[in-house]
Amino acid sequence: MNYIKETADARGVDQHIRLDHMVTRATWSSIDATWTVTCRVAGSLRVYTCSFLYLCSGYYSYKGGFAPEFPGLEQFSRMVVHPQQWPKDLDYTDKRVVVIASGATAVTLIPAMAATAKHVTILQRSPSFIVSRPSHDQMAIRLRRVLPERSAYAMVRWKNIASARLSFAFCKQFPNTAARAMKSAVARHDGRKVNLDPHFIPRYEPWDQRICLTPDGDFFSALTSGRASIATDEISRFTRTGISLASGSHLDADVVVTATALNLVAVGEIELEVDGVRIDAAQSFIYKGLMLSGVPNLAWCLGYTNVSWTMRADLSSRYVCKLLNHLDAHDVDYAVPTVEDSMVAEQSVLALQAGYVLRAVDRLPKQGPEAPWSRHQNYFADVHAMRFGSVDDSMAFGTRDRASVSSSIPQKPSLNA
Ligand SMILES: Cc1cc2nc3c(=O)[nH]c(=O)nc-3n(C[C@H](O)[C@H](O)[C@H](O)COP(=O)(O)OP(=O)(O)OC[C@H]3O[C@@H](n4cnc5c(N)ncnc54)[C@H](O)[C@@H]3O)c2cc1C
Repeated sequence: MNYIKETADARGVDQHIRLDHMVTRATWSSIDATWTVTCRVAGSLRVYTCSFLYLCSGYYSYKGGFAPEFPGLEQFSRMVVHPQQWPKDLDYTDKRVVVIASGATAVTLIPAMAATAKHVTILQRSPSFIVSRPSHDQMAIRLRRVLPERSAYAMVRWKNIASARLSFAFCKQFPNTAARAMKSAVARHDGRKVNLDPHFIPRYEPWDQRICLTPDGDFFSALTSGRASIATDEISRFTRTGISLASGSHLDADVVVTATALNLVAVGEIELEVDGVRIDAAQSFIYKGLMLSGVPNLAWCLGYTNVSWTMRADLSSRYVCKLLNHLDAHDVDYAVPTVEDSMVAEQSVLALQAGYVLRAVDRLPKQGPEAPWSRHQNYFADVHAMRFGSVDDSMAFGTRDRASVSSSIPQKPSLNA
């Protein structure tokens, strides 16, 4: 947090941030080439205008996480917490904690909670792939000793990009070998035995869902230390003192953390309108992974899901700058990605098989069959397309004087079976 605050302060970014503004609506007028953005601020509405709207609103709802209905939950007399509404004063010292989850949140929470809780049990319905990585990059440490900071940074960054790409490609090409390698790395963590079956045998192939990283294997260390354990089971019902499982056993709990996933949403749940026509983001095609078909001068920053999110966020921001420069250089006011009516949607913008993604397919923009309507998960291809590629492919441009873009709003795409 200090780093973020210091950087924002040093660059003067903090002067341009309006905190506690919830954007609820944005309407585009082609006559003015302007977005009118309505925000809710402490119970009242405030309106701003801009010529380009860049949404860095993330990919999940900030109103709340996904909360499945658990039978008997109302009987449970102790504390239930969802990670998205984490009470600042939650004290779990010497308490028995059950974390319902198996994904990134659980892998992050368990080592931290196990340090002071009496015991933490991870209750998972199905296991995930979890991989340990060193929290300190030894190559980076050595290079910084002998090279100037900038050169060392560049080398380490490209090394990490290449190794992430190679590992992703290997998992996709040889899923069984990759799965075996990941499982055997878990089994021999720290020279101590971690029970593989059933807790670390996922039902899917590597990268069908995201792979969780645990720094220095701290998740596995929490297990082997005895401060945490895993139950791979199904919830039968909540009781007054804990959770009854389908296997017949019972987990006693003082605190239950329901890390049961996010609600994915598009464009920050903002109601969009273009020239009086309501835009449903789910009916749009994603253009170059950031703009929406038929929506002028709007981009939605969407990162990678198979490597660091920020690498793609970086490219998106560069592309927005490039597009703005293009508009200036050609004396035009707006750019609208324009899709052919005949284009058929191939898949959702996030092509993962995880439950939280599949639940949201009807809320997210679609991908077309090929560039610029398909979204790469490949940094090398994206660098080429976003930094050095053209900005006018499948793009219509307009000025305030010649305003008429509503005809380019696409028809409802249908997903291929
Ligand atoms: C448990 C978990 C683990 C993850 N682990 C990793 C990881 O290891 N590596 C990785 O790369 N990524 C990871 N991610 C993905 C992570 O979400 C992204 O990397 C990153 O946070 C996205 O940054 P962002 O700024 O684009 O969006 P966010 O961090 O989601 O920020 C969006 C901001 O926009 C604001 N906002 C949203 N809608 C509106 C609105 N209508 N009006 C006003 N403000 C709005 C929100 O309040 C928020 O401040 C993880 C995500 C989760 C949930």
